[in-house]
Amino acid sequence: MSAPILRRLADLRAEVAGWKARGESVGVVPTMGALHDGHLSLVRAARAGCDRVIVTIFVNPKQFNSPEDLANYPRTEVEDARRLGPLGVDAVYVPEPEQIYPQGFCTTVSVAGLTDVLCGAHRPGHFDGVATVVTKLFTQTRADRAYFGEKDFQQLQVVTRLARDLDLGVEVIGCPTIREEDGLAMSSRNLLLSDRARVWAPELHRAMEEMAEGLRAGGDASALRTAAEARLLRAGFTGVDYLDLRACDDLALLERVDRPARLLAAAWLAGVRLIDNISVS
Ligand code: AMP
Repeated sequence: MSAPILRRLADLRAEVAGWKARGESVGVVPTMGALHDGHLSLVRAARAGCDRVIVTIFVNPKQFNSPEDLANYPRTEVEDARRLGPLGVDAVYVPEPEQIYPQGFCTTVSVAGLTDVLCGAHRPGHFDGVATVVTKLFTQTRADRAYFGEKDFQQLQVVTRLARDLDLGVEVIGCPTIREEDGLAMSSRNLLLSDRARVWAPELHRAMEEMAEGLRAGGDASALRTAAEARLLRAGFTGVDYLDLRACDDLALLERVDRPARLLAAAWLAGVRLIDNISVS
């Protein structure tokens, strides 16, 4: 059975009001569509934890810092609806842009500090776009719980912080990264890789695992980073935005693993920017 698709905020509100009146809990899984098994794992977690589940699909223009990237982002709505069919989703919210950003919209939600580094440093304005749309989606869906992937680790930290700071009444739940068999983290952007680039792509995860092993053995991040970057460039990657060891809680840059830490990377392959992260501690 396929889930009802709602495109207008008024329809979403009416649906949610009925659930809330019956005391049912609401879980939301925000996505930009082009759904894969990583997204579906979040939906299953929401299904297990909440009475009602809303999946949102919105390619948010405010979080893209290049018009070309926004235009090229994969859109597969019919296939997305088919994939969600068997999962028992109560509503798929696919808002028209004006349902999120009505005429005259001029508010930005900005999370300081956490967004200065990593993707925040390389994609100016990206996290303001994420924080703004997530705030809207939380308030529009009136969700009790929201499910996000660790795949976007910095985003998970940012969203957790904003939900707390703004008393949004939403519990943010992080879910593990789902990978292809060869280790590549699932991502909608993987659809943009050529067949040749797809063969090289898992090298990112392999180089990170090798670097993580060195770190666990007490190695220094800078020396290990140099070796890992060289490995990626040899494998066909054209650039590495970052390959950082960072503290899990505040994303402070670390040279050694002396507290719970994560290795995070963003690298370019054939014009596609891939990101990944793994636990090191
Ligand atoms: P996106 O559609 O890329 O904005 O992602 C929507 C949600 O799915 C975000 O919370 C992502 O972190 C999560 N997600 C994306 N890829 C994966 C993955 N491979 N494993 C788990 N969650 C993921």
